[in-house]
Amino acid sequence: MKATTALDGLWAATLLVLLPIAPLIASLISADASYCRRYAGTLVRAARHIGAQFRARAFSRWIFYQPPPAGQRDDIVGGCTHCGNCCLHRQCVFLDWSAEGHSRCRIYGRSFWRLLACGRYPESALDISLYACPSFAAVARSGPSRSRTIPIAVMEPQHAVVAKTTH
Ligand code: SF4
Ligand code: SF4
Repeated sequence: MKATTALDGLWAATLLVLLPIAPLIASLISADASYCRRYAGTLVRAARHIGAQFRARAFSRWIFYQPPPAGQRDDIVGGCTHCGNCCLHRQCVFLDWSAEGHSRCRIYGRSFWRLLACGRYPESALDISLYACPSFAAVARSGPSRSRTIPIAVMEPQHAVVAKTTH
């Protein structure tokens, strides 16, 4: 078994032990008492969240995250259509839906949310394929031009010599 899989399994087991207090934790993180009021429903959602987090290897990817080196990043094009896929395949306990059927995050912008990887998504082709995002695409960067820059000295009306460049 890979070490990262074992780590994700250990994290999932820890969360399962804490499952009875998951509604309280969710309420504290979101400042929303409804998670506690709907105790049984939150338990079911929290259990699904833990399973989805394990399947997506979200914990180990978060722990070992390293930003792509400069110059090797994909250009990400597109715009979010709020399908909710990237929220743990729609199983995140903090995921909510608008009346129009658009995904919404109930803790968006909060301190806890800033600790998560959510704000970085999507960062790469791998991210996009992981959650089958239908709205973004990754295109390889063309990179800096390899053509030589040739300085040309031109005479301005005042006969000053000014260096200009062409690419
Ligand atoms: S953006 Fe919000 S709802 Fe989506 S995965 Fe992150 S915390 Fe969950
Ligand atoms: S999977 Fe893509 S389109 Fe869907 S909510 Fe996430 S970023 Fe938006």
